[in-house]
Amino acid sequence: MNEKHPKVPGFLDDYAGTTRILCLYCSRLHRHGRSPGNRVPHCGDGKDLPEYDIVLVDISLPIEAVRIDREARRLHKVLQNRRHSIRITGSSKPDTAYEQEISDLAEAAGEFNERILGEVSHEE
Ligand SMILES: [Zn+2]
Repeated sequence: MNEKHPKVPGFLDDYAGTTRILCLYCSRLHRHGRSPGNRVPHCGDGKDLPEYDIVLVDISLPIEAVRIDREARRLHKVLQNRRHSIRITGSSKPDTAYEQEISDLAEAAGEFNERILGEVSHEE
């Protein structure tokens, strides 16, 4: 147990050698090698995010995680496009609403991960 590394469930992937996790930082799915332990989040470039600790679970990726990932990707793209057009037009409207949605999603991703880990340890 290391409190510095939040635990995330690593789901079965289409490829035997990899696992998929729902990232608690960006709410998107990341793919890692299928072995347990600490990993650097793929979204953390230069952000100095703490590593997460993958706990492998023997269940396929739940549809709920796919939905959270899809919504997070949509929001990140919207934000990216807005920032791009702000650079061109010079006009600036606050992105707060989108940032709030992204942080709500991150909360949902965290709750989802905790629930799965709770269910899995229940079965043992
Ligand atoms: Zn991420």
